[in-house]
Amino acid sequence: MGISQVTTGILRIEDAGTNCYVLEHDDALVFVDAGLPRTWRFTHEALRRIGREWADVTDIVVTHAHFDHIGFAAKAQREFGVRVWVHPEDHRIAAHPYRYQPGRPRLLYPLLHPGSIPVLGSMVRAGALRVPGVDAIEDLAAEQPPAGLRVIHTPGHTDGHCILHLPDRGVVFTGDALVTLDPYTGRTGPRVVARAGTKDAPVARDSLDLVAATDADLVLTGHGEPWTHGAAAAAQLARSREIA
Ligand SMILES: [Zn+2]
Ligand SMILES: [Zn+2]
Repeated sequence: MGISQVTTGILRIEDAGTNCYVLEHDDALVFVDAGLPRTWRFTHEALRRIGREWADVTDIVVTHAHFDHIGFAAKAQREFGVRVWVHPEDHRIAAHPYRYQPGRPRLLYPLLHPGSIPVLGSMVRAGALRVPGVDAIEDLAAEQPPAGLRVIHTPGHTDGHCILHLPDRGVVFTGDALVTLDPYTGRTGPRVVARAGTKDAPVARDSLDLVAATDADLVLTGHGEPWTHGAAAAAQLARSREIA
């Protein structure tokens, strides 16, 4: 686990190879993604570091509704009335986190890619198999979320996957459209998540153009370290790699 400031007004919380972010923008205080259930306990420490608490958080904006990105969303919604934003094409997964269909059977991956075992094992210990569904969701396609986040629909990893761009700050949150650590293979560097987690790999590859088009300087991913060499370079590298 680690909490770090990645740039002014943005904290990264890393737990079990999975990132979520605290974003301060003018008066707004929001989360981008909601980690795993265990990540909840680290959010308090992160908020304390910036002199805030959960009562100050208004929204969680979710890049996509996989279990490792909505881990504490239902809890925050229930305990603090936080609004949870999800693209409508992911609402069904959000309500039923274990019903989604990956492009390839997931159980094969630890056999084919032993590098995935430490990451997937730590995700299970962080509650990956007991993520509660979340209902009463704000519609990320119909309305703009707060904190200056520009929503760009980038399907492929899931049907409703979105990247979140802060144009005036040169930052893009890429969720699992582009990662720097693939939990299913353990490989690092900019890439598309393996077919074990990605619904439609060719579509996900096409969506890399939308990541590049942000021309953001700082790329903050759903898994792995921040990428500081620009969205265009990250997308180009990801495009050049075969999807596992
Ligand atoms: Zn995912
Ligand atoms: Zn993920």
